[in-house]
Amino acid sequence: MSVTVAKSAGFCFGVSRAVNIVEKLLEEGKRVYTLGPIIHNRHMVDELASRGVKIAETPEEVKNGETLVIRSHGVPKSTTDLIEQLGIECRNATCPFVLKIHKIVAEHSAAGEIIFIAGDEKHPEVEGIIGHCSSEYHTYTDCTKLEEILNKFPYTKNKTVCVVAQTTFDVSEWKKSLKILQKVCTNAKIFDTICSATSDRQSEAEILASHSDLMLVIGGRHSSNTNKLFQICKSKCRETYLIESVKELPLSAVKQANRIGITAGASTPASIIKEVLVTMTEEIKNIEESKTEPSEFEALLEESFKNYNTDGRVHGVVVGVTPTEVRVDVGRKQTGIIPLDELSDDPSAKPEDLVKVGDELDLVIMKTNDQEGTILLSKRRFDSQKGWDTIVKAEEDKSIITGVVTEIVKGGVIALSNGVKVFIPASQATATRGESLEGLLKQEVSFRIIEITKQRRRAVGSIRSVLNDERKKKAEEFWAEAEVGKKYTGTVKSLTSYGAFVDIGGIDGMIHISELSWSRIKHPSEVVNVGDTVEVYIKALDQEKGKISLGYKKDEDNPWEILKNQYPVGTECEVEVVGLTQFGAFAKIIPGIDGLIHVSQISNDRVEKPEDVLSVGQKVNVKITAIDFDKKRISLSMKALLDNAEEDAE
Ligand code: SF4
Repeated sequence: MSVTVAKSAGFCFGVSRAVNIVEKLLEEGKRVYTLGPIIHNRHMVDELASRGVKIAETPEEVKNGETLVIRSHGVPKSTTDLIEQLGIECRNATCPFVLKIHKIVAEHSAAGEIIFIAGDEKHPEVEGIIGHCSSEYHTYTDCTKLEEILNKFPYTKNKTVCVVAQTTFDVSEWKKSLKILQKVCTNAKIFDTICSATSDRQSEAEILASHSDLMLVIGGRHSSNTNKLFQICKSKCRETYLIESVKELPLSAVKQANRIGITAGASTPASIIKEVLVTMTEEIKNIEESKTEPSEFEALLEESFKNYNTDGRVHGVVVGVTPTEVRVDVGRKQTGIIPLDELSDDPSAKPEDLVKVGDELDLVIMKTNDQEGTILLSKRRFDSQKGWDTIVKAEEDKSIITGVVTEIVKGGVIALSNGVKVFIPASQATATRGESLEGLLKQEVSFRIIEITKQRRRAVGSIRSVLNDERKKKAEEFWAEAEVGKKYTGTVKSLTSYGAFVDIGGIDGMIHISELSWSRIKHPSEVVNVGDTVEVYIKALDQEKGKISLGYKKDEDNPWEILKNQYPVGTECEVEVVGLTQFGAFAKIIPGIDGLIHVSQISNDRVEKPEDVLSVGQKVNVKITAIDFDKKRISLSMKALLDNAEEDAE
């Protein structure tokens, strides 16, 4: 399902200007009257009324000390004259485009020309235009009415006529009427005063309606431009609805539609359009979620919000925090409420950890409920909108940003950064492939944005990119200071059959298996395990190849040193038979040192073969009779002990 909001939907320049003038006066503390409803929108008028704005039917109702605002439609000259006479403080919010029409008709009627006005004579704007005509004038709403006038007043054919249009007049009817006028009145001065905001809005609505299977026109039923929009859309899309507020949303039709178009009249506040959008999308969310990923759906909604000018942002002060919502004073009569799920994107976050009473927040208005006197607000959406700009910039300048990992999902993790969910694929989440992602959960991580899809507001990040940079920097530092013999404390990262790889602070070196132990071992795991902290030193370096050979064995552990110090020639000790040959038996004195008991040194009696007397694993007492440190040979004798025993017996 797609939802497209017309870019031109909502307040036009003139209406926005008029509403801003009223709001500014309210901020200045003025008591404000508007001459008639400020715009043709009941909801906006009600909201302003709730803030103290009153409506005057005539200038006489306004007293001293009160300020009167003339609305964007403008007024007849007689009204401005009266206001001046009464000395009333007045702000003229007449749209400059309407003022231009006043000027045209005033000048041309003063020259005696007949004024033709394409528009509805009962519309306040046309009443105002008429009020600036000092000569004969005629109004027409369509070509039939125009032809009637021309037939009724045939003399107009020979006079100079001046033609203007109500700013919101239907463009195609205007063009048709000009053809008739130009045929009849050869001396016609034509001024196309249809506001481009209106024509743009109408043509955009027409195109949008022709591509939609459901069209919503939001606006007041008394608003002429909203009614015209409705007629234009209806001619292109049979399922067109004119709704004044969210209460009239045709939900069942919405649920069945595939392509929904939305436009709104010039006097429709952005908050009403947004309210319709939010309610509509919430209602259809379940259907949509079954077809679309949630983030995609949210992006769709956000994209829709972006498409029209909205002033639905407010600044407020936190006045209360409960476990389910935060109450905010936004300087209006209504109470601002931020529900828990609109506070933050982190589902486990608690309101009391995020905000406290007195905090000032920037928020997006979600919904206004005048009956309940509440405004539904979202901090999450404001942060997300603001945060997205930060994400886009980070992608452009490749800068490093931080976020907290909130979820482990299929294929990676989700990190929340500046209110935006960033997907970090597993291949980019850790320094090396295959590492567990569990340890990242709830951790603050630094990453780069490596890919964004602006339309869908999706961002992909890489922690690995940052880790690689760190490693590179550390490697540079290492090579600048590295020298043979330098000692390091490292962590065993992995084991292979030929050695152990050790992280010595951002760079890896290898301890060869022969360097792990003074004694012969079959696998490095006999000495170290992954994760062990080890003391190593550099044995050899090859910066070109990036190879670092590490030493692990210590001299004091060298068994030949131990033998030298603790087992001198003549020492009697217990040894273990570890191997048998024809010429004798090998026996382990200490780990890493074996000696030979020659067959002639086993017994005082003649021994044919060592295995006749000894077996592997047997422990026997011997005397060390000779040590050759150069050739690493040790001679042991059992017989020497027997000789000693006989001597002792004698
Ligand atoms: S529609 Fe055009 S002329 Fe009318 S108030 Fe808006 S900007 Fe002004």
